Amino acid sequence: MDENGKKILRILPSVDEILRNTRVALESDYTRALVADKAREVVDGIRKQLLAGKFTGIPQSRDEILSFVINKIEKVLRKLNRPSLRRVINATGVVLHTNLGRALLGCRALEAINQAGSYYNNLEFNLDTGRRGSRYDLVEDKLTRLTGAEAALVVNNNAAAVLLVLKSLAEGREVVVSRGQLVEIGGSFRIPDVMQQSGARLVEVGTTNKTYPRDYRAAITADTALLLHVHTSNYRIVGFTRETTVAELATLGREFNLPVVSDLGSGFFIDLSQYGYPYEPTVQETVSAGADVVTFSGDKLLGGPQAGIIVGKKEYLDVMKRNPLTRALRPDKLTLAALEATLHEYFDPERARRHIPTLRMLTDDKFYLYEKARTLAELLKDRVGPWASLNVLEVTSQVGGGAMPLAQPPSFAVALGLKHHSLDEITRKLREADPAVVGRVQEGLLLLDVRTIQEDELELLSDIIGNILAEEAGHCAL
Ligand SMILES: *Cc1c(COP(=O)(O)O)cnc(C)c1O
Repeated sequence: MDENGKKILRILPSVDEILRNTRVALESDYTRALVADKAREVVDGIRKQLLAGKFTGIPQSRDEILSFVINKIEKVLRKLNRPSLRRVINATGVVLHTNLGRALLGCRALEAINQAGSYYNNLEFNLDTGRRGSRYDLVEDKLTRLTGAEAALVVNNNAAAVLLVLKSLAEGREVVVSRGQLVEIGGSFRIPDVMQQSGARLVEVGTTNKTYPRDYRAAITADTALLLHVHTSNYRIVGFTRETTVAELATLGREFNLPVVSDLGSGFFIDLSQYGYPYEPTVQETVSAGADVVTFSGDKLLGGPQAGIIVGKKEYLDVMKRNPLTRALRPDKLTLAALEATLHEYFDPERARRHIPTLRMLTDDKFYLYEKARTLAELLKDRVGPWASLNVLEVTSQVGGGAMPLAQPPSFAVALGLKHHSLDEITRKLREADPAVVGRVQEGLLLLDVRTIQEDELELLSDIIGNILAEEAGHCAL
């Protein structure tokens, strides 16, 4: 240890001294014990570094070292106090990013959550009769009007919906599914596993690429409980293929008096093919094609809160409502509030498109996205200075959330080419920022796809990036 090190070691503040310091005492909302704990850790850390000759801090005077130590403690405490669920600026261009929380809620849904959380409500109270009511009735009417189904039920998520359907209608019996539809959705939802959990027996028919109605017909026995159609949400089988449609299954179902269940995954009410997306059947089309039960997610293309929605024939929905498992899968009041407000938007499809963030982001036009990218590039120009090159590039976004896997909506991204910094280091710093920033790295460039960056985040985003680059550059210069 050199002379300077010895000097710092002598003037290193004690824990008591740190605790007496008004700055820590006044500014913190932490218990004294916690501050003492962290103070000890920080001081011990510095002492160890000094003894090992590794501490090369600049502080010289008693005051300087004290404020250096306090800064460090405050940093440690702030990190500790930071919420775990943090805001992220999504610059990936993946609209329904499951890892980033899937659908953003619209204003109406947020207002409804605020109200449901701030005041008492009639969650399970019938205001007409003054008696106990059911939370399941709250959105049933809107769901049946939107889908044309007789009855509806909402549970925690679509995985729960599929489980409940199978358990209620097929426990101990056989369910016929095409080999081409044995899907795995991210986060370990696999049709064969859910089937096993439900106590139903999976009967696979057809081949990966072709399954005909006759394959289902041949598999039907006295033990068959239902015919299941699963939407291949996150992959496509292309080329030499033949899928049996829901309508064809419905014909078979009627002949053998078996219910037909369709797991749509990302169910939606508005056909997006008019906006350049591949055509996929809506919930109402699936109902009118003859499916007896349809399940879908609340927070995929529907653009609402996490929920599993089941619609269909009353006789089957009644069985599910009586199943004790339903109680374990029930949604909370905040979810129901947000879902009802989201559903309400759909009675006017154009209003839904404008008000529901998922639909808005998916249908934003190219010119708007180009202007947004130009604005971001302009803001960044003043901030990234000499440290990065900036270009606006044409890219393709993704729908995400296991929906429309082949869609490639055209978008624009600001591409940052770092001149001195390491790309790994910068993307790490961006994840640590508040809000965190997640972009896309491609061919050595950091791409910021503007489709998923909210308009009111552009300035904030350029500040975050500018600050990180400047800070890092400062370190390099030292
Ligand atoms: C996404 C999906 C599920 C699971 O839905 P969650 O709401 O995430 O539980 C089930 N089946 C299909 C076909 C899906 O696409």
